[in-house]
Amino acid sequence: MHLERELETILLRVEKPARYIGGEWNSIRKDPAGAYTRFAFCFPDRYEIGMSYMGLQILYHHLNRTDHTYCERVFAPAADMEEEMRKAELPLYTLETKTPLSQMDIVGFTLQYELSYTNIINMLDLAKIPIRRDERNETDPLIIAGGPCAFNPEPLADFLDVVLIGDGEALLPEICEKHRLWKQSGRSKQSFLEEICLLPGVYVPAFYKPVYSENGHYLRHEKRNERAPDRVMKAILPDINEVSFPTDTIVPFIEIVHDRAAVEIFRGCSRGCRFCQAGMIYRPVRERTKERIRDLAVGQLRSSGQDELSLLSLSTSDHSQFEELVTALLEDCRKQQISLSLPSLRLDNFSFQVLEEIQGVRKSGLTFAPEAGTQRLRDVINKNLTEPEILSALDQAIDLGWRSVKLYFMIGLPTETDEDLDGIADLAGRIMDLARKKGEKYQGRFNVSVSVSNFVPKPFTPFMWCAQDTVSEFDRKHLYLKERLKKIKGVSYRYHDSFTSHLETVMARGDRKIGALLYAAWQKGCRFDAWTEYFRSDIWKSLLEEFGIGRDHPSVSEIPADAGLAWDVIDCGVSKEFFRREYDAALRGSVTEDCRYGCIDCGISAHTCCPLGGVY
Ligand code: SF4
Repeated sequence: MHLERELETILLRVEKPARYIGGEWNSIRKDPAGAYTRFAFCFPDRYEIGMSYMGLQILYHHLNRTDHTYCERVFAPAADMEEEMRKAELPLYTLETKTPLSQMDIVGFTLQYELSYTNIINMLDLAKIPIRRDERNETDPLIIAGGPCAFNPEPLADFLDVVLIGDGEALLPEICEKHRLWKQSGRSKQSFLEEICLLPGVYVPAFYKPVYSENGHYLRHEKRNERAPDRVMKAILPDINEVSFPTDTIVPFIEIVHDRAAVEIFRGCSRGCRFCQAGMIYRPVRERTKERIRDLAVGQLRSSGQDELSLLSLSTSDHSQFEELVTALLEDCRKQQISLSLPSLRLDNFSFQVLEEIQGVRKSGLTFAPEAGTQRLRDVINKNLTEPEILSALDQAIDLGWRSVKLYFMIGLPTETDEDLDGIADLAGRIMDLARKKGEKYQGRFNVSVSVSNFVPKPFTPFMWCAQDTVSEFDRKHLYLKERLKKIKGVSYRYHDSFTSHLETVMARGDRKIGALLYAAWQKGCRFDAWTEYFRSDIWKSLLEEFGIGRDHPSVSEIPADAGLAWDVIDCGVSKEFFRREYDAALRGSVTEDCRYGCIDCGISAHTCCPLGGVY
């Protein structure tokens, strides 16, 4: 009550108070006194970002449909709200029942990007929960985390009791149910951890100790508890049609980043881009059927009242029933005056027909992700998109009336030279030429926007052993490209900050010692590091120096093929031997075909049936 009374005053003083009140349409109220496991789903960023993340809606739905768990939501408060909360000594609380986090049974964070890590520490502190695992006692909540970044859990291992690897829909409710039974049993926390560490997908950091060489380089993990598995295999849902998907999604009071109904049409990807972590860790490809997707879309639109529907996947056009599915959905959407949005389309004739229908005369920009400027480098990264394909799609797009195109590239890719950067400028120039040749009416009305990110070598990719370019080399390349592109009329250039990408790599490939760096950064005031306006590069730079993380540090330099990797304790199902094979192929510039046309033995079929074949 004290908390709610205080909130009434505080909320009058902060920006967008609706971020902190809960009570939205379809949010769940259960009796907090029920015999549940009380679970706080924490998104370590603002409400508007967290509420746009479908994984939150999925797990909220899965936990709350059980009668053993009550799941509530928590987001990172913005700076003004944090200040007010600290002044009034209010603890971080759940939106649904305004319960302080310290009174929950399980506090679970989703790890979507590395630059949210200091927010996790800050949220634990705001919740008045001891931050370090070894400072917590039997009565403190269990602190867990999952999501794509959990595949290398080591930088956060000192703060987390449990890390969940892989698909959470079945695993998380199972853990919550076991937790409820454990609570009734009166057994110790240790015995609960020993019980759940036997489940696929459960990593208990306290049960492993990293071993380092004399010069501080990571060597291997040693087990500290005999019950723990040698390596933790990710949890896999063999068939996503069999699990339920939310139709009763929560509808926010305020505008969020993606304010629309959304249905995941398949999980995984078979294309094999060598830089892409998502394409590897979500294997195998598992589709929802066309009928199921339609039912879910209709149900979600009806329950949420949204006026836009989006399809979610890594590469939408790769669904095996894509054309029939989109034709049917277009019909449904037309009837209900719903707009359909189709991200990551392959731009072939069918997609253009669909885009024509969806966008009509108000055409938004077209996007392409060639990722690299030359065919040589596109072969190295296994990006199966050729320049003639891009130019022919654009030729068609210009004829159909599109006036702007956005091209996504990455720089700092393995084997890259300045010729590859020239290739980016040349491609942008050739696209402008194409528009120019179309005649007068396109002069000055067509534009190309080049957006460049910096290559981050991620764990569980064929490039996980590669060095990252230094910050100064990234800066030089950006300047080089800027000079080249500014000579081409109609082309604009945007690029990511080099130092943030460097920091992302330190965290993505970091070992357990990186936890101390994160803690020190938080102590010095770092939070919301993914937000340019809050990012404190001065603090991070001085801390990297203090912690001796320079260009030779193993997190950013080349890792020898036979060296231990900080994330070796996790098994994503795709074999290390496959990643090495693909890395060698990359160095030869040799492409590997999409495995839906023939299995190439990535290793996942040793763990689950691969619907694409998976028999090598
Ligand atoms: S097992 Fe074969 S078909 Fe399945 S994802 Fe791996 S390479 Fe592709």
